[in-house]
Amino acid sequence: MNGGMPAHLGRALGTDQLMTPSLMSSLWISLGLGAISGLANIFGGAIVSARPWSRTFLAYFIALGSGFMLATALTEMVPESLHLAPIAAPVLILLGYLIVHYFEHSWPAHFHFGEETHADEFLNPSVAYMALGGLTIHTFFDGVSIASGFLISNWLGTVIFGAVILHNVPEGFTIGSVMTAARKSRAAGLGAATVLGVSRILGILAMAVAHQFVSYGLALSAGVTLYVAASDLIPEVNKMPGPKIALTVAAGVGLVILLRLAFFSYLAG
Ligand SMILES: [Zn+2]
Ligand SMILES: [Zn+2]
Repeated sequence: MNGGMPAHLGRALGTDQLMTPSLMSSLWISLGLGAISGLANIFGGAIVSARPWSRTFLAYFIALGSGFMLATALTEMVPESLHLAPIAAPVLILLGYLIVHYFEHSWPAHFHFGEETHADEFLNPSVAYMALGGLTIHTFFDGVSIASGFLISNWLGTVIFGAVILHNVPEGFTIGSVMTAARKSRAAGLGAATVLGVSRILGILAMAVAHQFVSYGLALSAGVTLYVAASDLIPEVNKMPGPKIALTVAAGVGLVILLRLAFFSYLAG
């Protein structure tokens, strides 16, 4: 058992050791990167009041992140889950997608990625906490995806962390602006962003405890990543007119390909 790394790849590169981190090392790497993700959430929450540079910065960040996440989900996470769990993976990918759809968009009365400008939706303060609760389910699976990636291979963990970190600032910004729309204090916005970071750490710990089910964790989080890319971020990208934003999505896709080439030529060299 080589921890799920496709055998042909490990053999061809002669890098079985490099490619299959131990449980403890993948847990520590994941926790370190999870902490960085949490800080990015708090940074996103902190720039809500910084106008107007944060709007343009975020639009391009969301576009880059959506392309990177889409490519990671479809070219890395989905094929690897199908390889590791051919029977269960299709159902779990679909389930992951539907879990986030339910908790982000069916259960809260109002939620979408990007800046929250619909203050009238938040006259009842519980709407803001439902949005936070929904987003917390998503960030929990961000943690599951990072940990399952590093349990399988350093490459998969690295590319999944790329997909996570590229949407953490917009994530923090989103929940910070929800709190602003609900007329909560700035501290409440930063607190909500911190809750997202903590839930991601819990997702990492949960995957470490249930590490024997790593292929199921990867399949579920592949569906979650697909949802966040295609149904949270792309709709925000589509609000921006012009070719520059579409090219930024393509750049995100290209970045995954470049990263793959760089990573494997480094290991082979
Ligand atoms: Zn809104
Ligand atoms: Zn996320």
